[in-house]
Amino acid sequence: MHKRIWVDAMIFALLNLSAGSGRPQVVPSRRPPVASGGPTVKIAPLGSQDGDFCRNDRAMIFEDPTGVRVLYDPGRTIAGGTDARLGDVHVMLLSHAHADHIGDAIPNASAPGTCTSPGTSPATPNSNFAMIAAAKASAVFVGGELATFLGRKIQDVTGASSTPTCDAAGLTNEQVVPRTTPCTEALRPGGSVSARLDGATAGVKIVVVPAVHSNGIPATLTDSPGVAPGTAAYGGSESGYVLKFTNGLTVSERRHGPVRGYADHSARLLPGQPYGYQHRRHSYDRSG
Ligand SMILES: [Zn+2]
Repeated sequence: MHKRIWVDAMIFALLNLSAGSGRPQVVPSRRPPVASGGPTVKIAPLGSQDGDFCRNDRAMIFEDPTGVRVLYDPGRTIAGGTDARLGDVHVMLLSHAHADHIGDAIPNASAPGTCTSPGTSPATPNSNFAMIAAAKASAVFVGGELATFLGRKIQDVTGASSTPTCDAAGLTNEQVVPRTTPCTEALRPGGSVSARLDGATAGVKIVVVPAVHSNGIPATLTDSPGVAPGTAAYGGSESGYVLKFTNGLTVSERRHGPVRGYADHSARLLPGQPYGYQHRRHSYDRSG
């Protein structure tokens, strides 16, 4: 039996809203204050249907006021590296390698389907993530064993002899972007990186925090001899991310549970709008 329920679609809790405000403040996520001017962070979901962001959508682009653009979990709703909505993608993050996050498929333009049942085409064996990283020369910061895994997948897309490790360096592990070639770097819980646009004076700080989920690599993305039927390849630990932007805005991934079908989360903001606290609630069908 399907029961229609409402769940809070927001996964990002505002922790600190303005630059120079001292210690981070915990702001109730349901009634956050309205920002009072100043540079804003733009957050754009890239879903399967124009004007909506559906339960199967995962991808979000964060654009810092300095211009650094971070893609979080491309999923299945971005048409590879040529998707016209993407623009620059300086940094890519991946919470875990499950098929709906790494992207074992891309949208099927000739059969887009519906919000609840989007049409897709295979993105195997390399993944949507690797295709985008290769096309955009992105700096990839991921946990577990995914940095090596994705480096190889990106290599398979680019045809290069290898995918280099990112050249983040210094006390803040600073990564200057844009890059001319893709790179990957393992960033595990406790680790951080600062992604700074070349010429800017500050960067977006990205901190990895523990997450509780799982991180199996889909069998469709593994090479011969693959994995035992019904199992996934080892991907190391899953990750959560906390991003602190140059205007002081800090967002962190939150997972809602235990709503079935929602554990993989998604956030709902209108495409292209600055982060303005449009808390939308989404309805979902829950099975059982
Ligand atoms: Zn998952």
